[in-house]
Amino acid sequence: MGSLNQLFKHHDFELIDAHVHLNSPDGVLSKIAGDSGIQIVTINTEVPFFPGINEQKKIARNASNTHFLVTFSTENWGLSGWQDEAIQQIEQGLNEGAVGVKIWKNIGMELQKEDGSYLMADDPSFDPIYRFLCENRVPLLAHLGEPKNCWLPVDEMTVTSDRDYFANHPQYHMYLHKEMPSYEDQIKARNRVLEKFPALHFIGAHLASIEWSVDELACWLNRYPSAGVDLAERVCHLQHQAILEPEKVRDFVETYQDRIIYGSDQIDDAMKSEKVLSEIIQNKWGNEFRFFSDSDIQTAWNVEKPFRGLGLDETVLKKIFRENALRYYPLMNPRHGMSV
Ligand SMILES: [Zn+2]
Repeated sequence: MGSLNQLFKHHDFELIDAHVHLNSPDGVLSKIAGDSGIQIVTINTEVPFFPGINEQKKIARNASNTHFLVTFSTENWGLSGWQDEAIQQIEQGLNEGAVGVKIWKNIGMELQKEDGSYLMADDPSFDPIYRFLCENRVPLLAHLGEPKNCWLPVDEMTVTSDRDYFANHPQYHMYLHKEMPSYEDQIKARNRVLEKFPALHFIGAHLASIEWSVDELACWLNRYPSAGVDLAERVCHLQHQAILEPEKVRDFVETYQDRIIYGSDQIDDAMKSEKVLSEIIQNKWGNEFRFFSDSDIQTAWNVEKPFRGLGLDETVLKKIFRENALRYYPLMNPRHGMSV
């Protein structure tokens, strides 16, 4: 903790980690964050190996120093009235303090329709939900698709963390599942949602799955001028691009400084002791912040070669590590409710 306080001592704002997963009721990650002066947003997500979504919500509501995004069940998808149930789940979560809604890659990569085709994000069955979110100005954080690496063989992937994840989760490694929708299919389905619902307060999780190229991501951000992106578990992809083109990555972040939200994607599932979890997350917060704040040559465990940090100004850092989260999730603002 000493090193983290040391790192942040020159910065006069409280960081927000806007993408974590509290999956254990023991509240360790929220305590570590609180001790470090960091607010967190836990993202309720319909992941099969996470606790159920009601349990995740309960954990979130009981945690100190924590905001949360609610989600809805797709278990009854296709049955009559399932959207009403989903909207009820969302409304209830909002009444309980949720600051937005999350959807996950099971839409596009897991759920299948009766004819065997994959249920994509732009399926008209989701329209009542998107309409509800637009009408009520509720932010939607969408993890749709995956890093482009997911469609490559493991040894061609650009970062070690993707190699580890897809080697351990072959069911999500699309290179092995040629019959499933392509990377482009996922991106196009997501974009069609944005075109149909331009009023949606949309945040593309994980650099909107366009983590592999700041040029491509810039095009996407230009095309959807109100959309934001979060950095959860994708800082390494900016670092990878900064091996050869640090100025280009810096220009990108400066240009889109109002639309990039920091998140670590740290999971707290009680599998690690408080000491180990504390070391892991404090290193991650510290190292990822340093990539944006300092301009020296740095290394990261999952990036193949050294890269130069971006050395951004304090005003830009404050936006990425705090203010953009408050703007994209306005319900976090104490004026609107819970103060942390
Ligand atoms: Zn996540």
